[in-house]
Amino acid sequence: MDCSIYKDLLETITDGVYFVDLHRKVTYWNKSAERISGYAAQEVLGSYCGDNILRHVDDKGNQLCLRSCPLSATMKDGEKRNRNIYLHHKLGHRVPISIQTLPMRDAEGNITGAAEVFAPHENIHMFSEISQLRQEVLTDPLTGIGNRRYADITLERLEQRMRTHNVAFGVLFIDIDNFKRINDTWGHHVGDQALNMVAKTLTAGLRPLDVTCRWGGEEFVVLINDATNEVLETLAERLRMLVEQSWMNHQNKKVQMTASIGAALSGLEEPALSVVQRADKQLYLCKKSGRNCIHMDGKKICTCQ
Ligand code: GH3
Ligand code: MG
Ligand code: MG
Repeated sequence: MDCSIYKDLLETITDGVYFVDLHRKVTYWNKSAERISGYAAQEVLGSYCGDNILRHVDDKGNQLCLRSCPLSATMKDGEKRNRNIYLHHKLGHRVPISIQTLPMRDAEGNITGAAEVFAPHENIHMFSEISQLRQEVLTDPLTGIGNRRYADITLERLEQRMRTHNVAFGVLFIDIDNFKRINDTWGHHVGDQALNMVAKTLTAGLRPLDVTCRWGGEEFVVLINDATNEVLETLAERLRMLVEQSWMNHQNKKVQMTASIGAALSGLEEPALSVVQRADKQLYLCKKSGRNCIHMDGKKICTCQ
């Protein structure tokens, strides 16, 4: 059988994947592993995970690559393992990830190495560190996404990261168009369901590390890690399109809406709140120019009308 399909699949999936041999030498590193870690394949292939390049640490700060490598354990007993840990990114910051290790075997069933599959894990803090109470305090009860307070905390983190690691972040300020009409036509209860639908649609259109929060009323902010103008543009257009393409049924009628999006990329040393205010100003331009569109740097940037 042609194995190239497996290779192509591994290069296509959004999870990071790498293989090690019995000496824990890295023999394969896929495209998503490059994206999530910042390390290109040629920087990692041939090195040993015991050399502590990846510097996995767990919640307690245990250095897994040095002392309790899940890949080593899997190669010893052939058992799969799941862990929530923190990966070292090439730029220095930590990325919370979920990992799974799997044994690799030859035709006779002998273990010849191991594979690790990993994906960013946005809510690792939420699940392992923040108490139920704190989680409630940071969640919008109607939609289940982050609330204004969570947005403020995330903005503070992003601003800090920009100062220490020079990593730009982006803000999308999103407001549902003519939402008052939804309430007036269908009632407040359906309006609430519509808000929930939009919140979930926004979350679905984002990358795992990006954060959607309800800023208030029918306004949302999306906070984007590691942003560039191109990333902002792509994500904003995807979110605009997904909202436009979503609807719910109520009394056999479609309840459908659109959203306007103001986008802003953080400037060097710019306070996070000022980035939000700039995004809000761009949103105002959308409303003035017909809604269901995106503005950034004073220009309409979507392909929509
Ligand atoms: P625009 O396109 O200019 O944004 O028009 P709009 O009608 O969306 O804007 P406006 O600010 O006039 O109305 C927002 C409406 O959102 C008014 C308010 O009643 C409604 N709203 C705010 N919070 C909630 C909520 O939690 N549930 C429901 N159902 N409606 C809400
Ligand atoms: Mg509004
Ligand atoms: Mg509105």
